[in-house]
Amino acid sequence: MKWEVVIGLETHAQLSTVSKIFSGAPTAFGAAPNTQACGVDIALPGVLPVLNTGAVERAIRFGLAVGAKINSPSIFARKNYFYPDLPKGYQISQYELPIVEGGTLTVQVGDAERTVRLTRAHLEEDAGKSLHEDFHGQTGIDLNRAGTPLLEIVSEPDMRSAEEAVAYAKALHTLVRWIDVCDGNMQEGSFRCDANVSVRPQGSATLGTRREIKNLNSFRFLQQAIEYEVQWQIGEIEDGRAIQQATVLFDPDSGETRMMRTKEDAHDYRYFPDPDLLPLEVTAERLAAVRAAMPVLPQARREKFAAQYGLTVYDAGLLTASRELADYFDAAAVGADARTGKLCANWISGALSARLNEEGIDIAQSRVGASQLRGMVDRIADGTISGKMAKDVFDAMWAGGGDADQIIAAKGLKQISDSGELEKIVDQVLAENAQQMADFRAGKEKAFNSLVGQVMKVTRGKANPQQVNDILRRKLAG
Ligand code: ADP
Ligand code: MG
Repeated sequence: MKWEVVIGLETHAQLSTVSKIFSGAPTAFGAAPNTQACGVDIALPGVLPVLNTGAVERAIRFGLAVGAKINSPSIFARKNYFYPDLPKGYQISQYELPIVEGGTLTVQVGDAERTVRLTRAHLEEDAGKSLHEDFHGQTGIDLNRAGTPLLEIVSEPDMRSAEEAVAYAKALHTLVRWIDVCDGNMQEGSFRCDANVSVRPQGSATLGTRREIKNLNSFRFLQQAIEYEVQWQIGEIEDGRAIQQATVLFDPDSGETRMMRTKEDAHDYRYFPDPDLLPLEVTAERLAAVRAAMPVLPQARREKFAAQYGLTVYDAGLLTASRELADYFDAAAVGADARTGKLCANWISGALSARLNEEGIDIAQSRVGASQLRGMVDRIADGTISGKMAKDVFDAMWAGGGDADQIIAAKGLKQISDSGELEKIVDQVLAENAQQMADFRAGKEKAFNSLVGQVMKVTRGKANPQQVNDILRRKLAG
């Protein structure tokens, strides 16, 4: 039996407002427990929620970015459940009428693009946090997180592999940072995914029973958790057991998923409209103002890069991993022809990204500026330096050695591109390597590389490799 994997993701993106969604308490990360929770957050009797318009604006911005419908009104609802970190006894969320409905996200899986449909995105508040360490068998409660604004983004069950789910999560992560609604910090919990996973026989039209893996806060865990879960479900079914709908946790240490509770249904939460909050209206003026302030989106930037410089979907995707990176590429490639643009793209995705990764910094802190990079690329394009020499130039620029032209002059890195001079050197090498010349003519292609190597050795790596190739081929053929 062949199995098809079906995945839908629910993602909680913490909205980057300074204060909470229904109170004025700060949202800053890392404060001492319970120092950032006010009367509203700890649910003192008689307090009332006041909606933060910054959170609403961010939700609208997200909705516009994915081409969704912005509902007006949308309705806040109480989701009732008991947990020690939820002193109100309910979470304020949106249920029947979310602010954002529908929309799509284009994601890249390798060199292909896929469209994932979104169901909805709704505003809600986060709960507090239970602390189990340091309390000797007891549990501490930190309510700093209570009331933190979240946008829960729900996808349709459109993904068919762990790889696709990760591609979707990455595209979403890029988008929310791109449009400045979420800082995307996964370690701090600003962006976390629940993965709903089921399997069904290939060709089946009905969905299998799903299990929901909670709170995955890294792309690697997302991938591992889904892969494990899929194998587990297939094993269960093939052994004749039925999958029971459940909520499970992923344990990164064992790499396994473990049942937390059987899944509650929506009716268990007794959702009802929150009488403390008015229906949320979004006027046409407000919508127009948010729309006018939208940046050009990753997809449009990708298409422009691909069309202008002939980049592949994959390469263009690398350059639009963040808005800062796309801006850097634009600045480096300004006015460039396709060849130079492609070279800029390669250097940014290659050596530059490697350096940034190594040092754990992002593009804004790059020690090589966009125009500096372009200065080097121009010298590659006009044949002054080879790609190999450029590596040294790049390293020197990174180390603070100045611009490419200064470094090329100071290190005497100029490539020998004078064909008269190269001809002489090639003649000399051929005269000294009669055996290899004979080998090549006898059909040993390897001898050719060895001759090229000789020329490079004589010129201490400065000969233009393409020209050396051409001249050698011509002379050996003659
Ligand atoms: P909740 O988990 O809150 O009950 P939903 O029923 O709306 O909410 O489903 C949440 C997520 O589960 C969505 O992303 C949806 O695409 C996904 N999903 C629903 N059914 C399945 C299924 N059979 N297999 C995989 N994912 C599913
Ligand atoms: Mg769910």
